[in-house]
Amino acid sequence: MSGEIKKIGVLTSGGDAPGMNAAIRAITRTALAKGIGVVGVNRGYQGLIDGDFIELGYTSVSRIINRGGTILYSARCDEFRYAEGIKKAVDMCRKNGIDGIVAIGGDGTFRGAADLSAMGIPCIGVPGTIDNDIGISEYTIGFDTAVNCVIDMVDRLRDTMESHHRCSVVEVMGRNAGYIALYSAISTGATAVAIPEVEYKYENILQKIKESQEAGKTHFIIIVAEGVGQSEQIAKKIEEDTGIITRATVLGHVQRGGSPTANDRVNATKIGHYAVELLANGLSNKVCGIQKGELVNYDVQEALKIKKSFPMDLYNIFIETSK
Ligand code: ATP
Repeated sequence: MSGEIKKIGVLTSGGDAPGMNAAIRAITRTALAKGIGVVGVNRGYQGLIDGDFIELGYTSVSRIINRGGTILYSARCDEFRYAEGIKKAVDMCRKNGIDGIVAIGGDGTFRGAADLSAMGIPCIGVPGTIDNDIGISEYTIGFDTAVNCVIDMVDRLRDTMESHHRCSVVEVMGRNAGYIALYSAISTGATAVAIPEVEYKYENILQKIKESQEAGKTHFIIIVAEGVGQSEQIAKKIEEDTGIITRATVLGHVQRGGSPTANDRVNATKIGHYAVELLANGLSNKVCGIQKGELVNYDVQEALKIKKSFPMDLYNIFIETSK
């Protein structure tokens, strides 16, 4: 039995991401191996306020490592942003003997974890978001699966673009971060990419299409991050300016679903295991992540201040190799 922690809760909050189930499984099994009981909290912080709990045993998390989404459901909970909501959640934890929480989600989820920690319920945050936009971690649960989904979809689109000598403008997820766009643009051999981190100029896309055309290309894939948007207008303009039949495709939520990749399963397992070790060692108010392949943890407040530096070197490689 480890320290004071006898029972922990695990929850998923914010947008769901493939690999969250692998993390839930690892958290449950690691805790059980340490003699710590585990409850699953359904619907994120809303479930914590409502006491929507489910006991998790060794076999409750069997056969979920391969499943997308989250078996604990996810929700956004406004009540939890205010002192009264947090107090209700703390009371519910005390009433049910929950001594610690692992919260899987993004920055908002970590802010909630900090509030709970400050109220005496130790919390550890685990980065789960397909956008890969958590400052302290080079990896977030779900990103790899989302990129692989985009690759699959774009490869399919390419088949028909190639057959008809057309252009496809593909809008992918990432409101504030261009990771999915950049990684999928490189992986699919796209002609151009538009990401929030680089000032958008339509002329640059047009220029790339013309250069590719001169080099003998007859079909074109343009990847646009959600944060840049305007994919319909971009497609219309390309068609007007080049005469190439151009269609826009917004991939949307398909990118968030599906069976997690090996990378997501393994990393979610590693981080989930680590989060329980931190809790069991008496730590609280931490976000954990991976840096240069190593597991790391930071105080939530510090973690929230660290802005991720976008891999511009990779962007420049894309620009050079997509000519
Ligand atoms: P995603 O990256 O998918 O958006 P996220 O964790 O950032 O994930 P949010 O909707 O921002 O998603 O936050 C999830 C939940 O965390 C909110 O619904 C709310 O319950 C809680 N939360 C967010 N911000 C705060 C805050 N400042 N204080 C307390 N709780 C918060």
